Amino acid sequence: MDPELRELYQQVILDHHRHPRNHRDLEDANRRAEGYNPLCGDRINVELRLGPDGVVEDVGFSGQGCAICTASASMMTECVKGKSADDARALFEGFHDLLTEESYEEARATDLGKLAVFAGVREFPVRVKCATLPWHTFRSALDQEGRLVSTE
Ligand code: ZN
Repeated sequence: MDPELRELYQQVILDHHRHPRNHRDLEDANRRAEGYNPLCGDRINVELRLGPDGVVEDVGFSGQGCAICTASASMMTECVKGKSADDARALFEGFHDLLTEESYEEARATDLGKLAVFAGVREFPVRVKCATLPWHTFRSALDQEGRLVSTE
């Protein structure tokens, strides 16, 4: 990873860790799920309000996670709010590929916008689950499976 992106990665993660966005309970949520990553101990609750037209009208998270988990949850809420459920799922697919595909083509990362800084997590495989847990939990909330999501 080039030094500039690494620098940006650290800044963005730290900023979202210290000042998480949408870190709150949603009074009028109609979807929720709970996620757990036993590898790190991250626990997270994701709540959202899905509109009748399938748009994620609002989303919030709570729980206790490490810096990467918290930062990822914070950025996720910013990125999915206002998106259709389908677009949000597609974003997760792209994000997941960024973190897990061995031969990821960097050009694809432009579709991810600011989420692309998480490419830095690839260098720390044990942290990948920290970064993807909020998304897995979000998707479970969308599907309204209502069960505990575990990365194991
Ligand atoms: Zn973690």
